[in-house]
Amino acid sequence: MANNIIKTIAIVGGGTAGWMTAAALSRMLLPENVKIILVESEQIGTVGVGEATIPDIANFNLMLGINEQEFLAETNGTFKLGIEFRDWGKLGDQYFHPFGSHGVDMNGIDFHQYWLHTRQNGNKAKLEDYSICAMAAKQAKFVLPDNNPKSVLSHLRYAYHFDATAYAAFLRKFSEKRGVIRIEGLIEDVATDNETGNIQSVILKSGQKIEADFFFDCSGFRALLLDKTLGVKFKDWSHWLPCNRAQAVASERTEPLLPYTISSAKKSGWQWRIPTQERTGNGHIYCSDFISDDEANQVLLEGLDAKPLGDARTIHFQTGCREKFWDKNCIGIGLSSGFLEPLESTSIFLIQQGVSRFISLYPDNNKSAVLQNEYNRLMTREFTQVRDFIILHYHATERDDSPFWNYCKNMSIPDSLKHKIELFEAGGRVFRDDQELFAKSNWIAVMLGQNIEPQVYEPILLGIPINEIKHSLDSMNHAMGQAVSRMPTHAQFIQKYANGVRS
Ligand code: FAD
Repeated sequence: MANNIIKTIAIVGGGTAGWMTAAALSRMLLPENVKIILVESEQIGTVGVGEATIPDIANFNLMLGINEQEFLAETNGTFKLGIEFRDWGKLGDQYFHPFGSHGVDMNGIDFHQYWLHTRQNGNKAKLEDYSICAMAAKQAKFVLPDNNPKSVLSHLRYAYHFDATAYAAFLRKFSEKRGVIRIEGLIEDVATDNETGNIQSVILKSGQKIEADFFFDCSGFRALLLDKTLGVKFKDWSHWLPCNRAQAVASERTEPLLPYTISSAKKSGWQWRIPTQERTGNGHIYCSDFISDDEANQVLLEGLDAKPLGDARTIHFQTGCREKFWDKNCIGIGLSSGFLEPLESTSIFLIQQGVSRFISLYPDNNKSAVLQNEYNRLMTREFTQVRDFIILHYHATERDDSPFWNYCKNMSIPDSLKHKIELFEAGGRVFRDDQELFAKSNWIAVMLGQNIEPQVYEPILLGIPINEIKHSLDSMNHAMGQAVSRMPTHAQFIQKYANGVRS
């Protein structure tokens, strides 16, 4: 058995994926039992974007034992309560996709069904007027959730915005303290075993050879091991997610400090706005078939609300994922394994899932095919489910003001997504797998936000007096409004909470 234990792990790449992998493994494995080496090249650098997250990242940090205040201070982090979508369903539309739920389900019936019922009976309030996250966000307020389930603040959910480079540096410090060996160098060659096809070593420009039993390909879009060495094919999803370029630029911080991301649909893509403590991250995601780089740059700059801090960087990408995430003695994590657009901030989450799944299926040195197959099944499912949710945003639109939106509106979509939309249209119902990342409330926020209207709502509600329902909804809205009025502003909260621990 002892001979079968993995003794050395090599991680190729030191971006967010490489250092998240190193941090998680070093937390679990003692350096005297398993040596962890990370190779990265400053000459190549990292992609340098990836600033918005979803709430699951807090669990990752918790698993590492990271102090939240220290993390926010070191990464210029801020809080995120959701995403405001502008001009997606049609020009002039605005909706908020909050973390957490809308209202409270009653008598086993989803809250949005009650809201739809009251809306037909004159209720002018929006669905997001029953979300504590959306209400706090709109007033640029923030407070941590309350653990008391009776408190309205127990419904708060949050994630972070941060500086991606600072997060990788933070995790590097964490990992090196736990024995991870970092090697700076450019990998020029990879040696494989003729018989098994397994990777044996990576060879640096300096001639240094790094041997390991198991490898992680965290080399970003280059996919040095999974693609270039093992030849694992890429599943191209660009017919469903056609954007293939981004231009990113930071701008000066503005007031108030918003605790949410803004995603504004543009003529041939969309633009993000992500506020961190010292600056705002901005980026224009677009499809080069419909707009030139110069025009895209103009759109980006016109969409800024403050002075840019430098020139925009252009990043090329292709949406899709690998046919296998684990092949031979190598797992791809991060951009090497696939990319699905940053629209719902899911890439860092997929990194987290990649590492957690590996830990839960931790192999011995025989690299059991059963474990590999299970890992690939789980990661494929994860990518596919996230893919469908992102496609929904593009497809559920009435926009016809550009060839790009006409394409998105009329493109064929995966059957799995078509099924979800049909069920919702039929009766406002959402069915999802238990393991799915996006909850019912996420699907409901985007479907209703982008004007997919159920033809009927729960008929059972006709048996409840409408005034009773309206009263319950008014009480929820009132309780949330009261709670928000007592919150500090997001800027005040950050100032006290994160800056208090700055050295
Ligand atoms: P990289 O950051 O590219 O790192 C690759 C590493 O490999 C580097 O250290 C490099 O030096 C090393 N390397 C490569 N080749 C060699 C070699 N030959 N020798 C030695 N070292 C090598 N995700 C989110 O969750 N939220 C977001 O808001 C978000 N926004 C995004 C916006 C855009 C435009 C893009 C493109 C991505 C975004 N992402 C986002 C995704 C996120 O940026 C990535 O998932 C994350 O940064 C992980 O990247 P990575 O570590 O896989 O790759």
